[in-house]
Amino acid sequence: MTYWPLLLIALIALGFAYRSFAKRRKCARLLATPLTPEQRRVLERLVPMLRKLPDNLRPALEGKINLFLDQMTFHGNNGIEVTDHMRLSIAAQACILVVNSPVWFDTLRTILIYPAAFSTGRGEHDGFLVHENDIGTAGESWDRGPVVLSWDHALRGGLDPEDGHNVVIHEFAHQLDALTGHTNGIPILRKGQRYDGWEKAMLDAYNGHVERVESGHRTLIDPYGATNHQEFFAEATVTFFEKPRAMRHAEPALYAQLAELYALDPAEWG
Ligand SMILES: [Zn+2]
Repeated sequence: MTYWPLLLIALIALGFAYRSFAKRRKCARLLATPLTPEQRRVLERLVPMLRKLPDNLRPALEGKINLFLDQMTFHGNNGIEVTDHMRLSIAAQACILVVNSPVWFDTLRTILIYPAAFSTGRGEHDGFLVHENDIGTAGESWDRGPVVLSWDHALRGGLDPEDGHNVVIHEFAHQLDALTGHTNGIPILRKGQRYDGWEKAMLDAYNGHVERVESGHRTLIDPYGATNHQEFFAEATVTFFEKPRAMRHAEPALYAQLAELYALDPAEWG
C-alpha cells in the first residue's frame, strides 16, 4: 500500500490551514495598528464626526479603517484618480457603523468612485441593486458589492456631520442589511436583540414617517426613507449618527433599537 496520496492530502490540508492562519494573523495585526499622525490629521478635517467619538472606541475605529483599506479595492470612473484622502474618508465613514460591532463587510471587496453625480445605466428592476430613485446618482449598493459612490457627495457627507445627509453611511447600511442575504431593512441583529422588538419599533417609526411625508410635513429622517423598509433603515441609520439627540427625543424606540444594533450611543457623544 502506498502512502503518497494520504501524504498529498495532508500537505494540501496543511497548506489551507496555514493560509487561513496567516490571513487571521494579518487581520489581527491590521486591527491592532493605529493610524499615522498624518492620517489622523486628514480625518480630523474630512470627517469631523469622528471628533465626537469616545476615546475608548478610537483604537477599534483606527484598526478597522486599516483592515478596510487593506481589503477594499477602489476604482475611479469617469476620469477620477482615487487618492489616499478619498480612501481614508470613505473608510472612516463606513467603519463608524461597525466600530463597536462584530459584524464586518464580509461580502464587499470593490468600491467604485465617480467624481460627481453619475449614471451607471443599470435598470431599476435589477434584483441585486438597491436602487436609489432619489439620491440614485450619489450612490448605489449592490448585494455582495460593489458600492458605487459620487466622491462629491461622499466628501460633502463627511464634511458636514449634522445635516442629516451622508451617502457613505447610507450605502454601507445597505451593505450591512444585505449580509442576511436579503436587503429588506432587517440586518443581522445584535446577539440577544429581540426580533419582535426590532420589528415593532421599525414598523411604527416607518408608518409614522410615511404618513408625515405623504401629508407634506417636515420629517427628522430624510423623506427618501419613506420609499420602502430598506431605504428607511438606511436613512434612519444616517439620522442616528447625524442627529442622534433629536432622534432619541422624537423616536425613542427606534433610537434604542439602533443603539442596540450598533452598540453605540451617539446622543451621548461630544
Ligand atoms: Zn438606499
